[in-house]
Amino acid sequence: MTKTIIGFPRIGAHRELKFATEHYWKHQIDQAELLKRAHEIKVAHWQAQKDAGIDLIPVGDFSFFDNLLDTAVALNVVSKRYRDLNVSPLDEYFAQARGYQANDETVRALPMKKWFNTNYHYIVPEFTKYTDVKLIGNKLFEEIDEAKTAGIDPKAVIIGPYTLLRLSRFLDGTKPADFVKPLIAAYQSLLNKLADASVSYLQIDEPALSFDVTGEEKAIFDQLYDGILGSASSVKVILQTYFGDIRDVYEDVIQKPFFGIGLDFLEGHYNFDLIKAHGFPADKTLFAGLVNGKNIWRNQYDLTLKRFAELKTDAPIVLNTSCSLLHVPYSAANEDQLASDVQQHLAFAIEKLTELVELDHIVNHDQGSEELLTNNQNLFKNVKHPFNQSVHDRIDALSDDDYTRLPKRSEREKVQKAEFKLPELPTTTIGSFPQTKDVRANRRKFRHNEITREQYDQFNRDKIARIVKIQEDLGLDVLVHGEYERNDMVEYFGEKLDGFVFTQNGWVQSYGTRGVKPPIIWGDISRNAPITVAASVYANSLTDKWMKGMLTGPVTIFNWSFPREDIARKDTVTQISLALRDEVLDLEKNGIKIIQIDEPALRENLPLRKSDWYKEYLDWAVPAFRLVHSGVQPSTQIHTHMCYSEFGDILTAIDNLDADVISFEASRADFTLIDELVADNFQTEVGPGVYDIHSPRIPSEAEIQDLIQQIISKLPVDKIWINPDCGLKTRSETESFESLKNMVEATKVVRGSI
Ligand code: GLN
Ligand code: ZN
Repeated sequence: MTKTIIGFPRIGAHRELKFATEHYWKHQIDQAELLKRAHEIKVAHWQAQKDAGIDLIPVGDFSFFDNLLDTAVALNVVSKRYRDLNVSPLDEYFAQARGYQANDETVRALPMKKWFNTNYHYIVPEFTKYTDVKLIGNKLFEEIDEAKTAGIDPKAVIIGPYTLLRLSRFLDGTKPADFVKPLIAAYQSLLNKLADASVSYLQIDEPALSFDVTGEEKAIFDQLYDGILGSASSVKVILQTYFGDIRDVYEDVIQKPFFGIGLDFLEGHYNFDLIKAHGFPADKTLFAGLVNGKNIWRNQYDLTLKRFAELKTDAPIVLNTSCSLLHVPYSAANEDQLASDVQQHLAFAIEKLTELVELDHIVNHDQGSEELLTNNQNLFKNVKHPFNQSVHDRIDALSDDDYTRLPKRSEREKVQKAEFKLPELPTTTIGSFPQTKDVRANRRKFRHNEITREQYDQFNRDKIARIVKIQEDLGLDVLVHGEYERNDMVEYFGEKLDGFVFTQNGWVQSYGTRGVKPPIIWGDISRNAPITVAASVYANSLTDKWMKGMLTGPVTIFNWSFPREDIARKDTVTQISLALRDEVLDLEKNGIKIIQIDEPALRENLPLRKSDWYKEYLDWAVPAFRLVHSGVQPSTQIHTHMCYSEFGDILTAIDNLDADVISFEASRADFTLIDELVADNFQTEVGPGVYDIHSPRIPSEAEIQDLIQQIISKLPVDKIWINPDCGLKTRSETESFESLKNMVEATKVVRGSI
């Protein structure tokens, strides 16, 4: 069988692309040097695929920032403000991705959004009435040349027009349908140019077909592809889908003259049913996504062979990954700090290439393949995930009561108002204060054993004392300890809980040059000692004001880790919830009466299809949060915090978390959230962030005042909190203190006026 992958991680085995790009941004290397290093990375990755035995090697999946931006740029979807900068094409590209600031020119970056149900973020292209779609870009063709010179026969890859239209923003009253014609022409000229370059295959990625597709959208899809495939071409076009099934368009897709159709049989399990119900045409090739592109675990060959056998079709089959390998780290080969049984179970990008090749051998009964299969079976037979009986007993004993906090929120609200006696429009922050150089240096020294635990802790205690005093002087009402002890809000808790393991180099691209190194859930999760209590209690002892404890919530810890696959997601998250529940009760017992449980990533794993939102996700995610806090006293106030995405469509679920107070990011979406809260009759007390912490700009007192006035004109004043959008850890201290000062002063003025 032919083996292929949809895409390969591009940051490099040791994040070489990240460092090269950042050096370029800092003017430490020039463009020629950046291109040279990028070329070396591309060639190394193609060669690794070839060496592993991959037949169709994707070319075009490389990117300096994001593939959707690459596609938009190739199609001349670039707004005038970037063109007007008159900089090199590469700098114009980076200007769209991250903004541009030089001399007195500043242009803001295009917005960034989460890519489907992953933690990768794409740049949102912008169509306006001036957008003149045509194929202008050379990136793909240059890469094809690079590949050919390196002895690689390329499968060209580009994102398709349907997904481009589905994910872009339309300004000036334009709409997707306006651009169908020029997009058809542009993709046709792409096919012509590929034919001229003697490229045999073009993979067009259309993951947006895994969303719900409306009748109107389907019409656009049909028009686009009837047009693009309207005239014959020597290039074999593969329609590649992933992240789910394509039930809304499957019957149309199999009618169209694609050479091949790529389906994801893991997240898109329903694709099996589609093939059963409607068949798969024998004159097309099925690109079968059977090796998971998202998880980091070894493929269990038995299971994959079963799935393979389920694909009843006479069509030729190409073995494929379920999605691009962009979402897994580069290689597990050097993770030798992990216990060997853990390491043996890991398959990152490089290992997944080998799995495709081995599966092919096994299906063909090639010589030696029996041994491959037996070894794989043994690996799974002998696996021992650390087991904790008491965790299982606790879960078995849970009942509905454990998920229900009493009395109901409106009653608690009265108790808490009497208890805390906070002024109207109480002010607070989201938790972290700037992680200044000295904070990071202290952590580094401790990690490298240059200072003792006691020295490390003392430094952080001094930081806490200082920031408590600063918050008092600023006049904030509910204080925090500043989170100086945390490198990362998930890693910190992962390290303190039993059941997690950590890689040395398991980086996954999050956006641009930014990567994350998610913890891995390996055993049963439990807490063996209090985690945050000492810091919160110390901070609390320094002030007469209320001190807010600060935890990361169970759903966020889960969503930002690599989960196990041998147990249900619900079971893992319940284990995390129970561990955090103990932490909440310990904080309460030690006098912390306000506790914030952050859930910034609640929305992240929301299924792509609306009909699945509750039954596949929210029905366990919401209870997981409730389990963490349902045991506290009525007078203990539970806060939560969310950022990074829209909330309008899940406000009911958010209210159902049954927190007492929630702070939201609101400024980047132009405060549309406030109207959504009104429309939804939102019940939880709420702090819509009054200024954007992602920007270095200091908001004026007047503008914050204005905003607070707007908020209280729409929402009940006794339910409103005043706070920034998110934690301050990435900002400078000057920016943070100035901004908070204006926030507190603005609040005081408004208080005086009501
Ligand atoms: N408490 C965290 C902080 O302030 C919240 C971070 C987040 O929302 N991502 O940094
Ligand atoms: Zn946040």
